[in-house]
Amino acid sequence: MIMEDIQKSRAELPICKAKMELLKVIYHNKTIVLVGETACGKTTQIPQYLLDGGFAKNKCIGITQPRRVAAVTIATRVAKEVRTELGGKVGYSVRFEDVTSSATKIKYLTDGMLLRESISDAKLSKYSVIILDEAHERTLCNDILSGIVKTAQKLRSSNQSGLLPLKIIVMSATLDYHRFAEYFEAPAYFVKGREFSIKILNSVNTQEDYQHSALITVFQIHQNEDDGDILVFCTGQEEIDSLAAETENLALHLPAGCKKLSVWKLYAALPSALQNACFDKAPAGYRKVIYSTNIAETSVTISGIKFVVDTGMVKVKSYNPQCGFDVLKVQRISKAQAEQRAGRAGRESDGMCYRLYTLDEHKMFQDQSVPEILRCCLSNAILQMVAVGIHNICEFDFIDKPSEDHISASIEQLKLLEAVNRIKWETIGSLELTECGNKMVKFPLDPVFSKMIITSSAYRCTDEILTIISLLSVESIFYTSSEKREQFSEVRKKFETSDGDHIMLLNVYKAFRNVKENPAWCKENFVNSRNMKKALRIRKQLSEICEKIGIKPCSSGGDTLRIKKCLTSGLFMNAAVFHKKGIFKVIGKNQKVRMHPSSCLLNSQPSCCIYTELVQTSKLCMRNVTSVSEDLLMEVAPSYFKEKPIPSFMMDTT
Ligand code: ADP
Ligand code: MG
Repeated sequence: MIMEDIQKSRAELPICKAKMELLKVIYHNKTIVLVGETACGKTTQIPQYLLDGGFAKNKCIGITQPRRVAAVTIATRVAKEVRTELGGKVGYSVRFEDVTSSATKIKYLTDGMLLRESISDAKLSKYSVIILDEAHERTLCNDILSGIVKTAQKLRSSNQSGLLPLKIIVMSATLDYHRFAEYFEAPAYFVKGREFSIKILNSVNTQEDYQHSALITVFQIHQNEDDGDILVFCTGQEEIDSLAAETENLALHLPAGCKKLSVWKLYAALPSALQNACFDKAPAGYRKVIYSTNIAETSVTISGIKFVVDTGMVKVKSYNPQCGFDVLKVQRISKAQAEQRAGRAGRESDGMCYRLYTLDEHKMFQDQSVPEILRCCLSNAILQMVAVGIHNICEFDFIDKPSEDHISASIEQLKLLEAVNRIKWETIGSLELTECGNKMVKFPLDPVFSKMIITSSAYRCTDEILTIISLLSVESIFYTSSEKREQFSEVRKKFETSDGDHIMLLNVYKAFRNVKENPAWCKENFVNSRNMKKALRIRKQLSEICEKIGIKPCSSGGDTLRIKKCLTSGLFMNAAVFHKKGIFKVIGKNQKVRMHPSSCLLNSQPSCCIYTELVQTSKLCMRNVTSVSEDLLMEVAPSYFKEKPIPSFMMDTT
């Protein structure tokens, strides 16, 4: 789009009319809650208005986003609107990627990053305004940040602080704003969006295979309806990749004279160039269809959408009390989400929403999604809270307070990782960081991983552990497509080992370095060189942190046992023993699990193993698994396994 068009469409946004009044309200109130329909211009425009209004002074305006994709795409867009290089006046900061400079005035960052910043700067002294965006999503980080930002504002309002007061703007796309208004004791201000009518069609029968129904619906719309692009809400990357591939295949056989289809995807792990391309207009003679996760629900807006296909499903992280950890699983959306999804069809003109669920099914949906803080493991969040200086977790000013049982189960995990100590025995949430915990919070990683890095000195395998963790921090390092699956599994054999997936990752990395990152080699071996390079950058950042806190590089020199012990020092709570054909039991928990089909141990059935995470497909599966012996478990985490005896297993003789 050329510059004039961009400025013209900015001026046409519903929020533009409210600019002066909004600036006045913000000027007179230390905190406001701003409610406005998705796409009315909140995220892209408010920071620019504040900048024009002189609110940045010699500080920065920070806008939090629940997702990194949103932070990156929106910052890219706003940099264009402000006519500046990304990283100049407008920048972003997401995990492992900081694109800001001393000139940055508008900074988009994930809520997780702002939480990290608050560890070293509780008053958030770099910022004049903090905007908590997409507050209705109620992410764990955002909920905790609300408390931290509120405290920072209090600290700065005292005369001794030597800082200017902190403005807080909470932005929400849904009308469920009361909780925030109450919590911040702030007035709410409303911006009306454009409203066009949306026709909602529910399916008549229950759809057993919603992916298949989505595909059929897309082609029905394409062949029967007038112009306008299609947005399909899906649950995650794998589903989106496969639906997009099938759509492209089927589109080859469209009848002559029918418009062509141009297929796009939108999910977190997609490279940003491809994400940005989603926003471009389809070429003449094409209809655009976009398969997206719930990221397109409220945080990013794609123009031209007239048809929405809503599968009614979403993938969420959820605490599984049986295994004591979060599990990713696919479940029904809430009514509020269904409404947001439908709303995407009516942003620019009248639209239609095809719901792949019946009216009766819709009635059964929950009104609102449950806030993450009430359904996810809190260990990482609590560790960061203690690092910020919140020593009594139970007394923290939560918007929605998790139960004491929930809090103490998460604290228990941190104690097992030797990250925190209880200060007072009689109070559950009264904590301080241990020396180990103090080092752990320096890493932007889940505590189980930072723990491994810290113990890697003792096991003398820091180089290998850093590599493994970096490789786990990117989406798959392999390319797979359904057509070439057999060829891929043949090629992958040369990296596989009976030690398991972590050592396999290490083998791929070594080979990749040996061939000097040769692109032809990558292609031959289905290795995703872009993700490999990303992992290298992450590795570099992690080793810089190591250097700062005095962890010296050292290599195990081919001794995998030391690496396995080090992995276990973080993952001992994720240990499972063989139960019977294909089934394992998590030690100490009453939970049966299986090997994920992607694991190189799928067919070898080790008697005992540790896993990185559990994912819920049709069954609960362990992903990224390493085989270990019972002796090794006892040696590395004796106190844990003393209380939770390792059940003896029987060899399957059937
Ligand atoms: P809100 O935060 O209220 O949902 P936004 O500020 O994100 O609204 O979006 C306002 C408008 O800016 C949208 O209607 C959209 O057309 C446009 N826009 C946002 N991001 C992009 C982008 N990356 N490319 C093109 N247009 C965009
Ligand atoms: Mg927004």
